[in-house]
Amino acid sequence: MDFQLDEEQRALRNLALDLAERRFRHRAAEIDRTEEYPYDNAEALVQANLMGMTLPSRYGGQNRTLLDAVLCVEQVARVCATTARIIVEGNTGTALAISHYGSEAQKQKYIPMIVAGEKPCICITEPEAGSAATDMKTSATQVADGYILNGNKCWITGAGIANVYLVLARFGGGGGTVGIGGIIVDKGTPGFTVGRRTPMMGIRGLPEAELIFQDCLVPQSNLLVLEHGFKKLMQAYNSQRVGAATVALGIAQGAMEEAVKYSIERHQFGQPISDFQGLRWMLSDMSIQVEAGRWLLYRAAANAGHGLPDMDEAAIAKTFIGEMAITVTNNALQVFGGYGYSRDLPLERMVRDARMFTIGGGTSQMMRNVIGRGIVARGDGHKTDAQTTPARG
Ligand SMILES: Cc1cc2nc3c(=O)[nH]c(=O)nc-3n(C[C@H](O)[C@H](O)[C@H](O)COP(=O)(O)OP(=O)(O)OC[C@H]3O[C@@H](n4cnc5c(N)ncnc54)[C@H](O)[C@@H]3O)c2cc1C
Repeated sequence: MDFQLDEEQRALRNLALDLAERRFRHRAAEIDRTEEYPYDNAEALVQANLMGMTLPSRYGGQNRTLLDAVLCVEQVARVCATTARIIVEGNTGTALAISHYGSEAQKQKYIPMIVAGEKPCICITEPEAGSAATDMKTSATQVADGYILNGNKCWITGAGIANVYLVLARFGGGGGTVGIGGIIVDKGTPGFTVGRRTPMMGIRGLPEAELIFQDCLVPQSNLLVLEHGFKKLMQAYNSQRVGAATVALGIAQGAMEEAVKYSIERHQFGQPISDFQGLRWMLSDMSIQVEAGRWLLYRAAANAGHGLPDMDEAAIAKTFIGEMAITVTNNALQVFGGYGYSRDLPLERMVRDARMFTIGGGTSQMMRNVIGRGIVARGDGHKTDAQTTPARG
C-alpha cells in the first residue's frame, strides 16, 4: 500500500488550494447570504480544468482518477462548500454514469458539455420515495419516437441551473428494482419544468428543487441504461457519495484550521486558550477524527482508480465523515466562544453546511443498512478486497 501522493497529485491539490484561497474564500459568505449560484466560481473551475477531469480525454476530459478529484474537492470545501459541490457534480454521479454506460453519441454530446461547465444532476428522489428509492413512480412509457415521462422528483441539486438531468424512472416491471432505468433529459425539453426551490439550511448557493414531468417526450437516443439499470446507476451514485464525503471532510478540515489559529491568538486568564488542556484535547480530537475520515475517504477513492467505487467503502467513508463533520464543526465553533455563534465569522455557516451529509445521498441509517447487509452476508465483518467497477471508455 502506498500512502504517498505522487508529484502530479500534489501539484493538482496545490492548484485547487491556490484557487480556493485566491478566488473562493472571500465569496463564501456572500454566496451563503444571497443564495445565488456562483457562476463566476463555476467558470473559474472550468478554466482550471477541474470540471469533467475524471472523464475520458478523447471527449475533452482529463482521464484523471477519482482520488485526483477528491484532492481538489477537499481543498475547495475548506473554504466554500457550494463551490466544492459544483466540482463533485462535474466529476462523479451523472458525469461518471454517462462515461461508463453512455452510447458513443451520448458521450460525444454530454461529456464536452460537462467539461465546459454545463452542470449535470441526478434525479432519484420523489415525494413518496426517499430512502425507499425503488418505490419511485415516475414512469417512462415507450412510444414510437422515444419515451414519455410522467412524474415528480424533489430535492434535486442544481435544478434549474443544470443542463443535463439523469432521471431515474420506471420503464415497466412489477416493482422493486426491476424496470428502473435512467434516461437523460435536456433542459428545455417540452413537458419538463422546474418547480419550487426548497429553502435550505446550508450550502445555499446550489438550489434544491422539484422537477415536474408532464407528458415529456424524450428521444430514444437519450436512454442511458435499462437492463440492470438500478444496480448500475447506484454503482455510479457511489462515486457521488465519495464526493459528498469529500465536501464534508473539507468543511471539517476548514473549521479545524480556523479553531487552531484562533486558539493560539485568543488569550484568557493571561495565556493562549490553546494552552488550556481542556481545549487542546478538543483540538486533538478534531485532528484524530479528520485524519481517520481522510484515510477512509482516500481508500475508497484510490481503490476506485478510474472506475466506480466499492459500495461498502463509499458507505463507510460517507457515514463516518458525515457524522464526524457535524461533531468537528460544532467543536470548532465552541473554541470561538461567543464569536463562533456570530454571523461575522464562518463557523456558524460551516456548522450549517456540514449538517446535510448524513442525509443527502442516502441517510446514515440507510448507509448502515448497506454496510450491515455486507457484514452479515460475509459472516465475518471483514472485507479483504474492494469490489469496484473498472473504468470504461
Ligand atoms: C441537501 C440535499 C441534497 C439532495 N440532493 C439530491 C439530488 O441531487 N438528487 C436526488 O435524487 N435526491 C437528493 N436529495 C434527497 C436525499 O437523497 C433524500 O433526502 C434522502 O435519500 C432521504 O430521503 P427522505 O428525505 O425522503 O427521508 P425518508 O426516507 O423519509 O427518511 C426519514 C428518516 O427515516 C429514516 N429511514 C428511512 N428508511 C429507513 C430504514 N429502512 N432504516 C432505518 N432508517 C430509515 C431515514 O434515515 C431518515 O432519518 C437531497 C437531499 C438533501 C437534503
